[in-house]
Amino acid sequence: MSSNSDPTFGPLTRLSDDEEMFRQAIRDFAEAEIAPLVHDMDARAEFDRSLLPKFAELGLFGIDVPEQYGGAGGTFFMSVLAVEEMSRVDASTSVVIDVHNTLAIVAVKQFGSAALHAKYLPRLAAGEVGAYALSEANSGSDAFALECRAEQRGDQWVLNGQKLWITNGNEADLFVVFATVDPSKGYKGITGFVVERGFPGFTVGKKEDKLGLRASSTTELLFENCAVPAENLIGEIGKGYKVAIETLNAGRIGIGAQMVGVAQGALDATLKYVQERQQFGKAIGDFQGVQFQLAQAWTELQAARLLVYNAARLRDAGQAHMVEGAMAKLYASEAAGRITSLCVDLYGGYGFTKEYPVEKYYRDAKIGTIYEGTSNMQLQTIAKAILTP
Ligand SMILES: Cc1cc2nc3c(=O)[nH]c(=O)nc-3n(C[C@H](O)[C@H](O)[C@H](O)COP(=O)(O)OP(=O)(O)OC[C@H]3O[C@@H](n4cnc5c(N)ncnc54)[C@H](O)[C@@H]3O)c2cc1C
Repeated sequence: MSSNSDPTFGPLTRLSDDEEMFRQAIRDFAEAEIAPLVHDMDARAEFDRSLLPKFAELGLFGIDVPEQYGGAGGTFFMSVLAVEEMSRVDASTSVVIDVHNTLAIVAVKQFGSAALHAKYLPRLAAGEVGAYALSEANSGSDAFALECRAEQRGDQWVLNGQKLWITNGNEADLFVVFATVDPSKGYKGITGFVVERGFPGFTVGKKEDKLGLRASSTTELLFENCAVPAENLIGEIGKGYKVAIETLNAGRIGIGAQMVGVAQGALDATLKYVQERQQFGKAIGDFQGVQFQLAQAWTELQAARLLVYNAARLRDAGQAHMVEGAMAKLYASEAAGRITSLCVDLYGGYGFTKEYPVEKYYRDAKIGTIYEGTSNMQLQTIAKAILTP
């Protein structure tokens, strides 16, 4: 007999008692505390920082950080559940928690030394927000063409250069930053560091004005002779490419979860609307043409969720999940694009206005096919794996 707490049996969507309690707590929090702020945050393109201490209270800053460092001692899967539930209400709010847990913490926890764990995991778990800085103006998909320089001077590293598109730029206290110690070495020069907001020579630059995910800050970072202590190196010198890739292998599962949440939020609203809106003397949801569209969307959403949960469960089981994460992110973001577009269509003219929630879900879904590797980059990862003999 399978038990409810034994994840070995049953459908991937079946949650253990702990997972279900956690999911419900996040849903209740998102509906009570985030939902009332969403419209205003989106309109002002500004994250409401009053949410940060509330995230800390819920343990959202250290979901899978071990308890010895002040974390909640949960799983990566729980981070994914949190991101999904928060995204159902607001993708800008969820990305704060997503980048913090599935990128910044993953990089420090998986690759940092014991000293780095002791120095930063307690701070991250307590609510100092994390960010992940790989992209630059001339290196996006070709991330390892980055130009930001790191030079060893005595017992310090000195960073010079600029980063672009950095999520949580305005809120973050701790930044995982990739720079090259020797551009002539190509990807083998890339090295990761933890940079604190207060380090001399570090400043946060311009914030982007975006189509969607408007309340999430996306900023430039500037390094001008920024001094970083030697012990803030993440992993080994010249092995930052491995840190960057493997961290993104985890992060992409989080983005898949974000897209599942966005699509779910849009569909939940639409399923209600089609049963209320009358045309030709009946609810538009009574038309078989509309029902079939919704059934297709529901099926795609469930397929996306299964891919995301599978990749997250594989990660927690210590198994390979690079391809599964790429497929989850690819499929979930493409499906979220189709589903949110359908939702706007089914709301008709009202769907095109800001009075109803679906236009925002539609705008927010677009980022899923771009960040943490575009859809083409996910296809490249999957193709490489299946074409290798
Ligand atoms: C809102 C937002 C938040 C972000 N947050 C972060 C963050 O926190 N940290 C961070 O480091 N970065 C972040 N990014 C950057 C993001 O990861 C990059 O924008 C993304 O990787 C794409 O890079 P690019 O913009 O330079 O596009 P490009 O690499 O110039 O790509 C442009 C187009 O060309 C295609 N293309 C490129 N090369 C190939 C190829 N070989 N084969 C086929 N097609 C190809 C791409 O698929 C894409 O369609 C963020 C971006 C945005 C918009």
